[in-house]
Amino acid sequence: MYEGTPGETIRSAILDVTDRCNLRCKHCFYYREEHDSQELPADELLAGLRTLRERHDIQAMAWCGGEPLYRREVIEEGCSIFPMNWLFSNGTMPLPDIPNLMLFVSVEGPKEIHDRIRGRGTYDRIMDTVSKRPSGKPVVFLPTFHKLNSPFLEQTVAQLSRIPNTFMGVEFFTPLKAYQHIKGYPHTELQKTDLDLTWEERDAIIDQLVRLKVEYPGFIVFRDRVLELMRSDAAPACIERCNMPRRCLTLDVKLNRKQPCVLGKDVDCSKCGCIFPYEQQARAEDKAGGKETRPLFL
Ligand code: SF4
Ligand code: SF4
Repeated sequence: MYEGTPGETIRSAILDVTDRCNLRCKHCFYYREEHDSQELPADELLAGLRTLRERHDIQAMAWCGGEPLYRREVIEEGCSIFPMNWLFSNGTMPLPDIPNLMLFVSVEGPKEIHDRIRGRGTYDRIMDTVSKRPSGKPVVFLPTFHKLNSPFLEQTVAQLSRIPNTFMGVEFFTPLKAYQHIKGYPHTELQKTDLDLTWEERDAIIDQLVRLKVEYPGFIVFRDRVLELMRSDAAPACIERCNMPRRCLTLDVKLNRKQPCVLGKDVDCSKCGCIFPYEQQARAEDKAGGKETRPLFL
């Protein structure tokens, strides 16, 4: 378990709840690297989380994986440890009804494109899961854009925005610096050569997103400034300042710390497609201008 300095404040954390998942998505950031897959028993894991919460004053936990709902009982109990919780699920299992848990579900595009990336039949399963979610809770869809699905961005927004009480965030595929063959993960070659967007392609997607935000008011949750900071002319400076490795406690299934972040130990930060460094910069600008903004999704 992570042995941090007592008194060291780390307000947010991300946990690989489990190493298990029923899918093998083409762009997966988890299975493209080797992991320690030995899960701690639920009581030991929860006791460790309580210790970390006390020691570092963790206020928000992101439950990830693998597919975190394989350990539903851990999430149900774990949400009582942290004031705020986010669940990142592939949407193929029933979503839990927990008041302080925000739901993020991965959808990669229209049905045919989504199924090509995540596996046949998964789009319909997700839509079924979302339609049966408890108390009609809000759901944030979270597509990761890369070469296979970016041509379908507009269609994706048009279709998903019709589902009541749903929203959409956006990430770009972030490659690794170096890939190794991983047993049981068949998409290494594809990740290496066919997914990564050029900066020009990313900029073109951002142009579209800015336009779609006007056409579908309130659906795409990222602020315009954050999208601007993801552009090729601004992104490298944001990445340079990314404090994710210090500000967020990223934990594996045994509560050991993962560095630099959840995207993997060999991640190519220079092409970071995660929202974090851009949101961090936008909030720093707000603060410098005397404006306090809440962290995204809190
Ligand atoms: S659902 Fe998530 S963890 Fe599972 S294979 Fe897909 S991207 Fe990876
Ligand atoms: S991949 Fe992105 S979020 Fe992760 S440490 Fe690198 S710059 Fe930060």
